Amino acid sequence: MLRARPAPALAAIGETPLTALPGCGPKVAEKLASRGLFTLQDLWLQLPRQYEDRTKLTPVRLLQPGVAAQVEGRIEAVERGFRYRPTMRVAIGDDSRATLVLRFFHFRAAQAAQFRPGARIRCYGTPRPGQNGLEIVHPSYRLLEDDEAEVLGTSLDPVYPAIEGIGPAALRRLIGLALDRLPGDDSLELLPSGLRSALQLPSMREALLTVHRPPADANVSALLAGTHPAQRRLVIEELLAHHLSLRRQRLAQQAHAAPVLRDTRLVDQLRAALPFQLTRAQQRVFDEIHADLQRPSPMLRLVQGDVGSGKTVVAALAAMLAVASGKQVALMAPTELLAEQHLGNLRGWLEPLGVRVAWLAGKVTGRARAQVLAEVASGAAQVVVGTHALMQEGVVFCDLALAIVDEQHRFGVHQRLALRDKGAGGSVGADSVVPHQLVMTATPIPRTLAMAAYADLDVSAIDELPPGRTPVQTVALGAERRPELVERIRAACAEGRQAYWVCTLIEEMEDEPGKPGAAKPTGGMRIEAQAAQTTFESLSKQLPQLRVGLVHGRLKPAEKQATMQAFKNGDIDLLVATTVIEVGVDVPNASLMIIENAERLGLAQLHQLRGRVGRGSAASSCVLLYQPPLSQMARERLATMRETNDGFVIAEKDLELRGPGELLGTRQTGLAGFRLADLGRDADLLPQVQEIGERLLTQAPATAERLVERWIGSATRYASA
Ligand code: ADP
Ligand code: MG
Repeated sequence: MLRARPAPALAAIGETPLTALPGCGPKVAEKLASRGLFTLQDLWLQLPRQYEDRTKLTPVRLLQPGVAAQVEGRIEAVERGFRYRPTMRVAIGDDSRATLVLRFFHFRAAQAAQFRPGARIRCYGTPRPGQNGLEIVHPSYRLLEDDEAEVLGTSLDPVYPAIEGIGPAALRRLIGLALDRLPGDDSLELLPSGLRSALQLPSMREALLTVHRPPADANVSALLAGTHPAQRRLVIEELLAHHLSLRRQRLAQQAHAAPVLRDTRLVDQLRAALPFQLTRAQQRVFDEIHADLQRPSPMLRLVQGDVGSGKTVVAALAAMLAVASGKQVALMAPTELLAEQHLGNLRGWLEPLGVRVAWLAGKVTGRARAQVLAEVASGAAQVVVGTHALMQEGVVFCDLALAIVDEQHRFGVHQRLALRDKGAGGSVGADSVVPHQLVMTATPIPRTLAMAAYADLDVSAIDELPPGRTPVQTVALGAERRPELVERIRAACAEGRQAYWVCTLIEEMEDEPGKPGAAKPTGGMRIEAQAAQTTFESLSKQLPQLRVGLVHGRLKPAEKQATMQAFKNGDIDLLVATTVIEVGVDVPNASLMIIENAERLGLAQLHQLRGRVGRGSAASSCVLLYQPPLSQMARERLATMRETNDGFVIAEKDLELRGPGELLGTRQTGLAGFRLADLGRDADLLPQVQEIGERLLTQAPATAERLVERWIGSATRYASA
């Protein structure tokens, strides 16, 4: 039953259910609903993904592979065949005296019979190189009468995201019907009018009509590029809605209470015991954290710091504030290797101060596990280090005051919240006391993106490396130069240095290269492990005087751990490894790294890997071995790696090459799910979005609410903060 609503304001037209549209029965409505489309407003905001330009004809000779175009010509030949499945190839030619092949895989007999040599045809599609010149697979097409006048489209045709069970024409019709019901006044307007006039943005109504039904005189290239004022207007709203929804989550979190931590005795002791001075950047970031922890509301802070910038010690100092107040700290890392390394560091620093550091990972089972859980529950374990095992149900903290999560990119927001909830006995209510949250990432993201992706977090940057590090020299070499490297390793190790040889996937895998945090399919891991095994064997033979070790993802954790430890202790000279060593591994004496098939890795991953060297005072180098020929993207990636060691610069380049969706991953943000906004293209709007967002939240919360509802709606309604 629908609840009776109060007399609808004009704006409520947008809330009319779609079944009010002619031709939208319960079946169709259900299909639309499965895509989150319930109301007229939802259809108004079902924006075209792209446009097809049928306003002009392109001569066949001028077609370019990959560039969609409309072509008109006469059918020259039709060929039907059967190879694995029925196919039909239709050759057409025009006055430009070139031939284009249209290829069909599924077609009806009647359809095939239409294609007579000599008939006039107009078609639209994206040509690709085929066996005989360019071809278009399954073009949209229309056969023309011989005397039919050449009527071209007068405007761009919108292309909508496909919805299963509803054909494109039916969808266009429904969207058209919804648009016919757009209110004529400005009741849809949610942006402050000052902003609209300052940026010369059209009204919401005008923007929607332009984007859905581009007028004949619209700026075609701006529309195709997504930079038309009508599009910018919608993009601003969408970015604003996302920003507001993150800010609201933040406000909801900060409405909770958190323990006030101001006892600095252990901090002072730890600092006095450290064998080094904090860098200015470390000091500044710790001060920011310290200030947060003295407030009675939860800290929500992200610390970005390049590999090797020394985030761990900052986290340890923060932990000491909690422990000194008699509370507990959890430190969660995405891999066991990394978690174990944190454990080693923290034990080394904290146990001399009498702080009890406990360890919890999946492999801790049986009685050992029961014992750890008991210590965590009683509060005897003051700092608990582990993997996602920390979030499992049986883990109950006595008094968790600070949750630290390392390598944010591999965890989602939800996991962060799950760890937070550990501090409140598993369920967070309005008056719960929740732990402070500290998130650390070694994959810096550009400032603009950080603003968008982490609007619910404060961001600090450790933008300085500890002194005495010399930048890593990076070279890129074709794989044929591999033999020289054996000599180079021999020389480095003869000087008492250590080296890494990193094997990456050597076959086309479903695993996308360089996607940080992408779960590797086991097949990929197996092939990588095999490559590492083979390389291990051949390098062992070629370098008989060296102690060579091997780690890959298929080894038992204990074996992996033992080998890593041996490498750390200097009992192994050359470590052959897969990308499992990617994050966090810290062996300062290692000064040479060779990365095979470097062209297959993304910038973030290359930078992470390279960060394993250059951690000591010796001059270090990194050799990127590649398999020619290089794609343009790979060439640019390798060039960037040669030119800079600065993770923030690399992140900017990565954004430029890959776009924000890839960079951030889809898991922890809704950013990949934008309808129209593209953070690469629209990043210039973000500062403004942030400013308007803050104003709306304080001055017009109801408008803020409506913006979130309009653009994000049901998706966040259920995502509790
Ligand atoms: P990351 O930020 O990549 O996690 P780590 O915390 O692992 O970096 O620190 C890298 C190395 O630098 C560690 O060996 C650490 O002990 C050392 N280190 C951290 N801070 C300093 C400092 N201020 N001066 C000298 N060495 C430091
Ligand atoms: Mg680290």
